[in-house]
Amino acid sequence: MDHAHGRNTLIRGGHLLTMDPVLGDLNGADVLIEGDTIRAVGPALEPPDGTEVIDARHTIVTPGFVDTHRHVWQTQLRTIATNWTLFDYTCRMRFGYSACYEPEDVHLGNLVGALEALHAGITTIVDHCHIINSPAHADAAVRGLRESGIAGVFCYGIFPNPTLPDFTIDFEPGWRLDDARRVRAEHFAENNALLTMGVAPTEVTARPFDAVCREFAFAREIGATRISCHVAMGRYDRGDRLVERLAEAQQLGPDVLLVHGAALTDHELALVAASGAGISGTPETELQMGMGRPVTFRARDAGVRTGLGIDIVSNYAGDMFAQMRLQLQAERGFRHASASGAPRVLDVAAREVLELATIGGAQVLGLEDRIGSLTPGKRADLVLTRCDAINMVPVHDPVGALVLNATTHDVDTVFVAGRAVKRNGALVDCDWPALAERLRASSARITAGFAQAPLDQIEPLIANAMLNAEH
Ligand SMILES: [Zn+2]
Repeated sequence: MDHAHGRNTLIRGGHLLTMDPVLGDLNGADVLIEGDTIRAVGPALEPPDGTEVIDARHTIVTPGFVDTHRHVWQTQLRTIATNWTLFDYTCRMRFGYSACYEPEDVHLGNLVGALEALHAGITTIVDHCHIINSPAHADAAVRGLRESGIAGVFCYGIFPNPTLPDFTIDFEPGWRLDDARRVRAEHFAENNALLTMGVAPTEVTARPFDAVCREFAFAREIGATRISCHVAMGRYDRGDRLVERLAEAQQLGPDVLLVHGAALTDHELALVAASGAGISGTPETELQMGMGRPVTFRARDAGVRTGLGIDIVSNYAGDMFAQMRLQLQAERGFRHASASGAPRVLDVAAREVLELATIGGAQVLGLEDRIGSLTPGKRADLVLTRCDAINMVPVHDPVGALVLNATTHDVDTVFVAGRAVKRNGALVDCDWPALAERLRASSARITAGFAQAPLDQIEPLIANAMLNAEH
């Protein structure tokens, strides 16, 4: 892949929200990109000869957003989960649609999903990829991410999807462990590359504890950069204190990425903080699917490395603006609901969710020295959001413009490692109409396959496993 090493770009005269505590916000300042690196940040920089200059007036310049949790493969099922609970999602998506993906569907879902992320200014993504129905599915998923040019972590999903129409499922990880080892060797030789490999163990809340520990040990043995797990899912939590037990068993560590976590106790959050593990809050899923108050601010306040994630693009857009807005306003709403009297001041500021979406996500991935702020020496992942459209004029508060007003169509320019992947509001080298046609055809094929799913068998089985939790 071409990272355009050696080419210089000067981004001139933008409103910089650097997210660097020393540099702060700089109105009318410049960013100099040299190859894949931010070389300088400040007013009136003098570019070397041959530098391409981008006029950034009337734009807000930020670091690229970091999406710490997404199932990218679900891209062609967009809007299918509009009115689903987590129970519906488990029955239909995890035991139905997932059985109907062929490798080419996975490739297309991951390619278009990653392009959607780039279009939205998300430059780093954690792909929790539980669609590995065969080794060819794994290769296709990796290829889709790579072709897009996005950075992040591909988490190999050990979860065994069923086969249809007979609906057989074997929860032993079996061949997937050997295949994960193969994928690590073939596709992810380096742990400091743009894309690295993590592991997504079989659903940890549904497995015997010793089996969970064995999959953690396997992930560490193959050098996974992250171990991504759904935990403590609010009303669906079984009260088994899984995270506390993981801590007691010395399984938590900086390589662990816990997702959701609304039911985590304060004691568990303290254990997570002490271990250096990260938490990904995915507010839109948590609010819809009975998970209770998103854990994000509780986790951050407990000293946990905390970021935001988008989760299921089978439901809503792969858009960090929407997640920031939902997380902010949901937290304000929960605090108002539990307070007495009329509030005199708001105690959560919009900037706090912008931090979660940038430097917070970088910390969750242990990449805060390389991404998450516009700091000289860091990788040149950055976003120019244009403030010209009818929803973006005027800008009294650039943080408010991003968090409460912007849409992905206001994202004008996106760089990943110094390479422009979006310019003038359009993805670079992307034939979107052709991709959209392929995506519709793939979606129709998957939906036809899903018609064979025996929901009359699946639903009682999953109800027994999921709906008998005590609270
Ligand atoms: Zn998820």
